[in-house]
Amino acid sequence: MNLDSKLEKIKGVGVKASQQFAISGIETVSDLINFLPRAYEDFSVITPILGVKPGKVTIKARCEKITTRPVRRGLRITTATLADKNGKLQAVWFNQPYRETQLKTGKEFYFSGVFEFNYNRYQLTNPSAELVSDMPVQTDRILPIYRSIKGLKSTLVRKILSELKPLIIMLPETLPEKIVASEKLVSRSDAVLTMHFPNKIEQVSKAKERLAFEELFQLLLASQLNRMENAKLKGWHIPFNLKVVSNFVTKLPFKLTTAQRIAAWEIIQDMERKTPMNRLLQGDVGSGKTVVAGLVACQVAHFGYQTAIMAPTELLANQHAETLSKLLRPLGVSVGLLTGNVKGTSRKTLYNQIVNGKVDVVVGTHALIQETVKFHKLGFVVIDEQHRFGVEQRQQLLKKSELMPHMLAMTATPIPRSLMLTVYGELDISILNELPAGRKPIITKIWSPNSRAQMYTAMDKEISAGRQAYIICSLIEDNPENEIKSVKLEFTKLQNSIFKHRRIGLLHGKLKSDEKDAVMREFSDGKLDILVSTTVVEVGVDVANATVMLIENADRFGLSQLHQLRGRVGRSEQQSYCYLVTSTSAKPTKRLQEIEKSNDGFHLAEVDLELRGPGEIYGRSQHGVLDLQIATLADTKLIARAQRQAKVFVQSGENLLQYKQLAAEVRYYQRLTTLN
Ligand code: ADP
Ligand code: MG
Repeated sequence: MNLDSKLEKIKGVGVKASQQFAISGIETVSDLINFLPRAYEDFSVITPILGVKPGKVTIKARCEKITTRPVRRGLRITTATLADKNGKLQAVWFNQPYRETQLKTGKEFYFSGVFEFNYNRYQLTNPSAELVSDMPVQTDRILPIYRSIKGLKSTLVRKILSELKPLIIMLPETLPEKIVASEKLVSRSDAVLTMHFPNKIEQVSKAKERLAFEELFQLLLASQLNRMENAKLKGWHIPFNLKVVSNFVTKLPFKLTTAQRIAAWEIIQDMERKTPMNRLLQGDVGSGKTVVAGLVACQVAHFGYQTAIMAPTELLANQHAETLSKLLRPLGVSVGLLTGNVKGTSRKTLYNQIVNGKVDVVVGTHALIQETVKFHKLGFVVIDEQHRFGVEQRQQLLKKSELMPHMLAMTATPIPRSLMLTVYGELDISILNELPAGRKPIITKIWSPNSRAQMYTAMDKEISAGRQAYIICSLIEDNPENEIKSVKLEFTKLQNSIFKHRRIGLLHGKLKSDEKDAVMREFSDGKLDILVSTTVVEVGVDVANATVMLIENADRFGLSQLHQLRGRVGRSEQQSYCYLVTSTSAKPTKRLQEIEKSNDGFHLAEVDLELRGPGEIYGRSQHGVLDLQIATLADTKLIARAQRQAKVFVQSGENLLQYKQLAAEVRYYQRLTTLN
């Protein structure tokens, strides 16, 4: 037997069991060895029942009596009396009726759980139960707990793994020895062995460190190699032209911020090089990213190259097209708009203009990446709110050019440093760390639904002063099963009562494109006082005169989403307000408190990463890369160590191919994260 052997080759694994394993993607011996425990249950310290104190505890006992009774719909309580030589205590399980069959056998079990005061008495709540006779001797009673696989017991997994122990001991080292030594890591075989058969719980952290380091090292090495490969590509050479740029800048209705100047300069310099640019422009909501892209597009057009600007929503594409037309047309640069809403002959005409080079700047949604769209000379690709796009979409867009076009991804979602190093390691980054002059920090306030009247009064005062307001509800239609607000009902209600005297608009994703456009235009032209909308306005929408953002059922939204929504106001020198209305008058969640306290997108992103983890924030499908098994991106120290070693490795010029397994993993990550 070897690592590639099928599982059914192992003694005691039947056809049925191996099929169950296969469903979870475990087919070979190696897959199973790498199927690491998700937790441990420490049965090494056993307390006699008479000595049990409140808190986490493990006892060794038999079940004397056990009954299950339904309490109400959806809740069944199982209570048992557990006894050892000298004492007895009560245990309770919620909705685990199978405990009866499991424990009625009268055999001896280890029970591990929390002993606490509940329902007027002390009891052991939801303890796990493991047959004493099942306990593998060699683990010193620290029991690895595996992710459950349907139809298979954890005990079977443990048993098979103990059969594989000789193979685990022989596992070859996958990292370069030099790195293992200088980082003082345990060997791969020791690490895997400890994960499955820990002697002491303290050893597990050393084993995890080693495996997490390896994961991060692979990821970071992949991104370094991608960067090197990028550097070998040939891109369009677009020289800096002072006259074009200063002409653009002097025609602007405002002065660029220093951060905008620096970012534009960095981008322009990248384009003078022979390699294609690969840059991320990161700036908090309202920091003025669009105009930076416009400036560069202007100078790109001057040299006869086209720019494609891709936005995540139609609404945003329309707005960008409008903004950029205003800035660029007077300078002789033509702007086209391509969305799903451009149809028939006008679409054909636009296609022709794009392929003939008659349009310099094409703004659009993902309609831009369709096969039918051909460019004359695509030199510059801008992707707005890039975290919304998958790697594949970017690749398709980049394919539309003879040489690799320069790429700029723009995002308002601040990326925590740890993510930046790992996932975005191959990108150069420009940061807009200041807002245009004269902006006042938005005042954020949590309102309980009881104080609605007071809040509306505050809002009405703003409208009387000539300002506008957004009201965000998460649903389109009311759902009788919950109390969550919907735009349709809220719109009707407000129009017929408290805001009878105001002009109110309704916006949501189910409207037709031109209806959406019309409402949005009315709002931005100041013909509406209030826009009742779903989150379709979440990203990018720019109406400077709006100063109130009211979010209903605010507790239902994520932190980044709230920050983005709030960013729709505070876009002028006027004082702006964000009102977060909670669903109930209960104490607001930590998320809401954080957002009330801070306007700093970076800080909020860090908090969000802590609260929810990266997969949740950035979306699994887009970043399969974040499906790390052991490492967490919150571990910035380990990331820094892995980053340093990856750099040293690349600079040493050592041949990666001599580390076969490492090379394979790195290739995998490279494909996953590369932009070209
Ligand atoms: P974001 O970075 O969120 O995409 P936008 O590009 O939409 O921000 O810009 C926000 C608003 O600020 C726009 O109305 C834009 O015209 C304006 N703006 C951009 N730069 C400046 C500046 N330097 N001074 C004043 N206003 C600016
Ligand atoms: Mg924007």
